[in-house]
Amino acid sequence: MVELDAPLAPLTTLRLGGPARRLVTATTDDEVVAAVREADAAGEPLLVLGGGSNLVIGDAGFPGTVLRIATTGFALDGTTLELAAGEVWAEAVARTVEHGLAGIEFLAGIPGSAGATPVQNVGAYGQEVAQSVTEVVAYDRRAGETVTLSNAECAFSYRHSRFKADPDRYVVLRVRFGLADHGGLSTPVAYAETARHLGVEQGEPVGLREAHDAVLRLRSGKGMVLDPADHDTWSAGSFFTNPVLTAEQYDAFLALAAERELTAPAYPAPDGCTKTSAAWLIDKAGFGKGYGSGPATLSTKHTLALTNRGAATAEDLLALAREIRDGVRAAFGVELVNEPVMVGVKL
Ligand SMILES: Cc1cc2nc3c(=O)[nH]c(=O)nc-3n(C[C@H](O)[C@H](O)[C@H](O)COP(=O)(O)OP(=O)(O)OC[C@H]3O[C@@H](n4cnc5c(N)ncnc54)[C@H](O)[C@@H]3O)c2cc1C
Repeated sequence: MVELDAPLAPLTTLRLGGPARRLVTATTDDEVVAAVREADAAGEPLLVLGGGSNLVIGDAGFPGTVLRIATTGFALDGTTLELAAGEVWAEAVARTVEHGLAGIEFLAGIPGSAGATPVQNVGAYGQEVAQSVTEVVAYDRRAGETVTLSNAECAFSYRHSRFKADPDRYVVLRVRFGLADHGGLSTPVAYAETARHLGVEQGEPVGLREAHDAVLRLRSGKGMVLDPADHDTWSAGSFFTNPVLTAEQYDAFLALAAERELTAPAYPAPDGCTKTSAAWLIDKAGFGKGYGSGPATLSTKHTLALTNRGAATAEDLLALAREIRDGVRAAFGVELVNEPVMVGVKL
């Protein structure tokens, strides 16, 4: 299906931004590939759209083709799962739990499509798709052919992958996961907050359904489960990634935190780096829950989510994001980086 001058705001969870010059909805892999080939042959800018839950679309909209991936397919063979890119992620997770399979149960309730999950290596509550993705089938726009990438070839890291590093090259068609049958039990609970909530020690498994439902409860309490009636969920989830600091940056940060008599959360990260909490930095820099008086404010439930209270433009949201980024830099010398993909705008 092709529509011209099509509004994009209703197709995103932030519900803001301008229209697409052309919006193509593809329901099969062949339609996806044909639409990509057509746009590429015409030298037309292309934006691939899943559930629109990790996008900030500028008020001018998109001056090219927006390809909305609406393919379906949930194929389970033993513990191997293949999802079409257009499958609704949260529904697919719930189905794996019903089938008694572990591996993605802590990723319950994350909005968006299955095809977008490898793009930023979606993760939450101690689990990320890098741990279970075995292969990604994608259309390679540079080679002009469909390719199958192994987990290693996806180059996953924290909220990052080969797909994010090279955004105009791959269109994900299918994602394959290797799940596990632990007799109805989850993978070991890796996240302290989830363990506390479930009343178990970190590292212990729980029932799969218990794990799934606990995550949904925790997420709801933070406004992180979509609810059209709740403006706290008119967001792109976490707006900033957790900063990963080199040893030198971390020492400088600790000194500034110590001046304020604050002890910052710290988690070991690869290559001798330390990860700290963006939510903590935002809060301690003076931007508490609900901060802001305009049409875009922080969520009243979570300092990391920037929300549209109903009539915000992309510029309103970005003005708030810049104020927070600059405030955190001034207070702690740490540069926050946006997690959502910016379309036609910059932070
Ligand atoms: C309330 C809320 C909570 C969230 N919680 C989490 C969380 O806990 N953890 C987390 O990691 N994320 C979270 N997110 C962010 C978001 O849900 C995920 O990043 C999700 O995977 C985005 O999927 P999407 O289909 O909506 O992608 P879109 O927003 O449509 O697109 C995001 C990017 O991926 C690209 N893309 C989409 N589909 C494809 C494809 N098939 N092939 C190639 N590129 C593609 C797009 O071009 C764009 O660059 C949250 C968002 C919201 C609104």
